[in-house]
Amino acid sequence: MRYGVFGDIHSSIDALDAVLFELRRRRVEGWICTGDVVGYGPDPGECIARVRELGPVIVAGNHDWAVAGRLGLEYFNTQAQAAILWTRRVLGAAEIEWLGSLPLTQQVGEGITVAHGTVHEPQHFDYLQTAYDAYLSFEALDTPTGFVGHSHVPVTFLDGTPITYSIEPRIELGERRAIVNPGSVGQPRDEDPRASCAVYDSARRTLEIHRVTYDIQGTIGRILRAGLPPLLGERLRLGR
Ligand code: ZN
Repeated sequence: MRYGVFGDIHSSIDALDAVLFELRRRRVEGWICTGDVVGYGPDPGECIARVRELGPVIVAGNHDWAVAGRLGLEYFNTQAQAAILWTRRVLGAAEIEWLGSLPLTQQVGEGITVAHGTVHEPQHFDYLQTAYDAYLSFEALDTPTGFVGHSHVPVTFLDGTPITYSIEPRIELGERRAIVNPGSVGQPRDEDPRASCAVYDSARRTLEIHRVTYDIQGTIGRILRAGLPPLLGERLRLGR
């Protein structure tokens, strides 16, 4: 089965539509979302509607739960807090309830586990960035493949001695267990401002990372008109 994998959308509908167009063009058959549909950006309602239409396997991101009141604002910086409060004001009760209903982890048929931060302690929303983080998550992972988000940096960790990682855009996983971050749709932080997503073929065990351009300037305009912190727009141009 070919899965379109994406996350950290952060209320950016132009970036999300660009990613979904790319993934459909690549004939994915199923959808996996690693969380953080909302937060930071200007289009939370549109992004929630678009994601719900897909019916993906989806987990909660820390911003999703913060908007729903399931996670305290003290875990976020000033700009993120401002965006969370703004998002709460513009969403309806049903949308907020949906965000709060998202689970911390999900398993997908054919051996896939999904979490937002780490596989070993998803409730803490820590970053999975180092080989040691990956080691702890591989210990907890009981499927061949895991998908996470949160760091907004596309990277694949490969199990073994030692654990290694790859930022190659196409990886043959073979027999190796892997934990993959597909990167961020709406706020990339690897100094490439293009939206990021992945295609995972579970039969061939191949992974591809794809980057797509979208209307960054238009998104920045909506951030400013919404009265969100201008820095949240500026960072989109820089990809960090
Ligand atoms: Zn995020």
